[in-house]
Amino acid sequence: MHSTSGAKSAHNPALDDFRIIQEPYYRSVGHEVALFEAAYGARMPVMLKGPTGCGKTRFVEHMAWRLKRPLVTVSCHEDMTASDLVGRYLLDADGTVWHDGPLTLAVRSGAICYLDEIVEARQDTTVVIHSLTDDRRILPLEKKNEVLKAHPDFQLVISYNPGYQSVLKDLKESTKQRFAAIAFTYPDAAIEAEIVVSEAGVKRPVAETLVRIAQRSRNLKGHGLEEGASTRMLINAGHLVAGGITLDQACEVALVLPITDDADMRDALTAAIAACL
Ligand code: ADP
Repeated sequence: MHSTSGAKSAHNPALDDFRIIQEPYYRSVGHEVALFEAAYGARMPVMLKGPTGCGKTRFVEHMAWRLKRPLVTVSCHEDMTASDLVGRYLLDADGTVWHDGPLTLAVRSGAICYLDEIVEARQDTTVVIHSLTDDRRILPLEKKNEVLKAHPDFQLVISYNPGYQSVLKDLKESTKQRFAAIAFTYPDAAIEAEIVVSEAGVKRPVAETLVRIAQRSRNLKGHGLEEGASTRMLINAGHLVAGGITLDQACEVALVLPITDDADMRDALTAAIAACL
């Protein structure tokens, strides 16, 4: 295998699509911005842990903008192969040509690579990140007979929802130990209402009501509900209200039906909503 360095590669126009020009709105809820900046400074891989829809993706987008790094995002799924991440040879008019996968693109050019919901991917796929997370910071491109040394600006970020993981799909201990982890939960009520106002364009009292409803629905987690209403769902409800739908209807459509098919649970949620209106 020959070794190449990402740092020497020329400006990669393919990466221009991944630059974040405008500041993505992110309301910080703790010390996460400073923590991430310190981790990036040390080029330490970062793991964002927390339930879906609580701001992890938005946070990474904000941090990429702040750090002026392009952001390559991959939504992981169980059919994803290592080649989907790393790259493959494809046939074109001139014969077989190597195409970098999203991870390789980020490693080569110094982007932040965000692997969203990493535990969705099979372990034989996630194994490719091992050598990127230790001191070597290399990515073996076996099919290309090349070992790619990461660009100095490259950073790996992964997210996962501890609630969903099964033992089998859990990350390997040796992988987990290499990361700095930042825990995400739903923000405090006042901050969450602020986010809903900003994102959905509803008045503050509407946002506060939605947050109260969400808190009740989160209390039902584990009592027949896999997850309560997320911040994302509150914003969806807010958008419907802003579009002229009544609050109770918006809640039914955005906060109840998407998370349960069970009639009793639906009634429990509807009653919880009615109590908040
Ligand atoms: P996750 O990646 O955790 O599933 P997202 O980052 O996609 O969740 O969050 C869902 C939506 O909630 C975002 O699109 C954004 O509108 C909003 N959101 C959640 N938390 C925040 C926050 N702290 N600041 C700004 N927006 C937020």
